[in-house]
Amino acid sequence: MRVELHRGCGSATETINMKTLKRFVLVGAPASGKGTQSSFLSETYGLKPLSTGALLRAEIAAGSQLGMEAKKYMDAAMFVPDEVVNGIVAKWLGENKDCGCLLDGYPRTVAQAETLDANLTQLGMEVDIVIYLNVALELIQARMLKRKACPKCGETTRNGEETCPKCGAAMIVRTDDNPEAFAKRWKDYESLTQPVIEHYRAQGKVVQIDVVEEGEPEEVSARIAAAVRTYCEK
Ligand code: ADP
Repeated sequence: MRVELHRGCGSATETINMKTLKRFVLVGAPASGKGTQSSFLSETYGLKPLSTGALLRAEIAAGSQLGMEAKKYMDAAMFVPDEVVNGIVAKWLGENKDCGCLLDGYPRTVAQAETLDANLTQLGMEVDIVIYLNVALELIQARMLKRKACPKCGETTRNGEETCPKCGAAMIVRTDDNPEAFAKRWKDYESLTQPVIEHYRAQGKVVQIDVVEEGEPEEVSARIAAAVRTYCEK
């Protein structure tokens, strides 16, 4: 059987056999390349992406109340409270229930994963696949020192670009990209986010991509696409 992966929210360049995948989750450590691979996955499978980190940074740039609240936590390299992030994502999912979608940076705690599962169940859906970017810590540390973010559209670059390649806004170094903040974020990732991977592994939904040496993002994308194909044929 050939199944259209995605309906109504963009066009997929790849269709998937055997199984319909509509709810993707992308998990990985800070600076593991989630932003880059999120763009690849959205374009390839016609998914609408939601990056909670980019959305929160856009709220900060807009000076909204939500942004001001989130900024306190993000500047301190802390997770924004579950109830705040859960609320944002639940609203977005409700507005995009007819789309194939990709959650990037959410869920980041087991409590968030449980809330997501329950919210999707209410909508008659579930997480279909979790792509886990497992990048070696040495690579992550080196990348983090070179990356910049666009405060306007959320694009992330890794070669110190001055202007955003997507929207032209001036790029910034994120306030949470310094060695002290990174150490804290890594610790939280290990203790709070890695259990999310186990939560979905127990459901048989995790596709793990190991990255042990620095290479081109396209190579990682190609490996993800191959792994998604294999997952669909299971
Ligand atoms: P990174 O992947 O490098 O951590 P993100 O852009 O995904 O970057 O997130 C940046 C920050 O935004 C996080 O460190 C955290 O403070 C906040 N944030 C993003 N997503 C979540 C989430 N799901 N739960 C709590 N905080 C979040």
